[in-house]
Amino acid sequence: MATAHSRAEQHVNVAALRPFTPYITSWSAERAERPTVVERRSGIGYLDETVYDRDRHGVLWVRSLVRQGHGEPRFAIVHPLRQRRAMRQLLCNVCGGPADRAEDGVLWLLSDLRDGWPSWPERMGVNEPPVCLPCVRVASRMCPALRKGAVAVRAREHPIAGVHGLVYRTTGTVSPEPVEHTNVAYEDPASRWVVASKLVRELRDCALIPLESLCPS
Ligand SMILES: [Zn+2]
Repeated sequence: MATAHSRAEQHVNVAALRPFTPYITSWSAERAERPTVVERRSGIGYLDETVYDRDRHGVLWVRSLVRQGHGEPRFAIVHPLRQRRAMRQLLCNVCGGPADRAEDGVLWLLSDLRDGWPSWPERMGVNEPPVCLPCVRVASRMCPALRKGAVAVRAREHPIAGVHGLVYRTTGTVSPEPVEHTNVAYEDPASRWVVASKLVRELRDCALIPLESLCPS
């Protein structure tokens, strides 16, 4: 089984995959740069930092090339600039067009975590941008498992709340130490110690939408 699978992977037709590659997916030509991270006054920075390395809140962001569609899609890796653009402008994470908006809010497709959290997803920080209706329908048709594992949510309020990224801590030297990937709110002092890779919105005033109602068969 494993051999057959890996052989199949070697013959992936990248051109055929291109139309099905989500907007926020990274491509192999979009390698992230790894600038040297140094400790500055009460936080971190890049050794060769420029004005483009921080957002309007003063948070440091990963650097990456923008070469969408070049090389092969890296489905497990989200492109930081496209994620940030889609999240900020409420664009669909799959096609990059406007996400679906209705009277009862903007549409998100989320992994179903209702079991562990009674009020889920109220006040949850999400780093996956929203979706549009046609993409929910296509995804649902192509991936029947989605109907089991995913929930459609409309959020009336969805303020930008912070970032997801790699948090560092001081070592008492010029070289801080990476600790963990996590969400950090903009008002948290830890936001001076993070290299952000995704923008986070907080979902409020949420309503769960049955997928079947969005995807009439
Ligand atoms: Zn879409």
